Amino acid sequence: MKPFDVYPLFDIEPVKAHDCWIWDKEGRKYLDFYGGHAVISIGHTHPHYVKKIEEQLEKIAFYSNSVKIRQQEELAKKLGEHSGYDNYALFLCNSGAEANENALKLSSFHNERKKIIAFEKSFHGRTSLAVAATNDASIQAEVNKLHDIIFLPLNEESAFEKAINKDTCAVIIEGIQGVAGIHSPSDEFLKLLRKKCDETGAVLILDEVQSGYGRTGKFFAHQFTGIRPDIITIAKGMGNGFPVAGLLIAPHIKAKHGMLGTTFGGGYLACAAAIAVLDVIKTQQLTTNSQLVGDYLIGKLKTIEGVKEVRGKGLMIGVELHFNATQVRSDLVFKHQIFTGSASNKNTIRLLPPLTITKAEADQFLQGFALTLQTHLQSVSQ
Ligand code: PLP
Repeated sequence: MKPFDVYPLFDIEPVKAHDCWIWDKEGRKYLDFYGGHAVISIGHTHPHYVKKIEEQLEKIAFYSNSVKIRQQEELAKKLGEHSGYDNYALFLCNSGAEANENALKLSSFHNERKKIIAFEKSFHGRTSLAVAATNDASIQAEVNKLHDIIFLPLNEESAFEKAINKDTCAVIIEGIQGVAGIHSPSDEFLKLLRKKCDETGAVLILDEVQSGYGRTGKFFAHQFTGIRPDIITIAKGMGNGFPVAGLLIAPHIKAKHGMLGTTFGGGYLACAAAIAVLDVIKTQQLTTNSQLVGDYLIGKLKTIEGVKEVRGKGLMIGVELHFNATQVRSDLVFKHQIFTGSASNKNTIRLLPPLTITKAEADQFLQGFALTLQTHLQSVSQ
């Protein structure tokens, strides 16, 4: 048997990692400006994180949700404090797709409606409802097309004026669109969505799977606007690599026992990992670091020749070039030993480093990036 071919591979085999750095089996050292797809929040193998998981592993690694798991209460309490959503309920699961699947399902339990509004260029995961609400027909099978989903353009109020009505079950929107190449809903747009959902009884779901956990300079990206969603979904940075995800559910949502379930969700190890992540975000003030280093990077990136546009907030940055970025990403890896992320917009590179990244490491990235672009521009002009 061979592993299933998930994504196109770089021929690199990481064998160890620490903070923002990864080593391959030949001993080469790489700067991680991708964070394994926005997952590494507090840095690879953070000592506090390793210690907390090890301690938990020695006590009890797993039991199902049929018993009281004290660590879930500690996690919910800490997450409430960090996020400002202390009166919401926390349902724990294992992945971003699963979180969105459950959020959409819960919305339909709540208002007994079916129609879902999502946005052009959205990405919400690969399970049935989540992929149906993802605006990419190439990853939807026929069975996913049975759902009642409408895609509206982002930041165009006139489009949703009629589309969101008393038949609408839920509106699902990313705090900042990630996979598409970093596109933010405007403050005004989010506020109007909130108002329209209030008027019609539609549930407003903020998918903060990629944009949450301090990445943008606030705990959640939507907190730049001051709106409060009905459900918030979280994953990626939550576990720093340990599979854990969740739903923050507002008190007025009718969520009762039996509507949602899970075998692995909220297990001891997942809770230990997620608690350790919140501890480190707090003690190392990583949300502030995201903002500071992010602003610095965004300012510098805008001055580099070959860059068309820089989008995003904090350490969730999309750099759009005037040309296809595939070769640039490959040169960054193989010539400068820097990992970056791709986007569905082929001209865009995504920067999603660990939130611990320093200004000196940002400078190291900027130097490698500017040199790569310069070489690329010279070779095409010859
Ligand atoms: N939602 C958003 C905004 C994402 O970026 C992703 C993954 O990239 C998902 C959901 C799906 O998460 P997972 O791959 O953990 O299922």
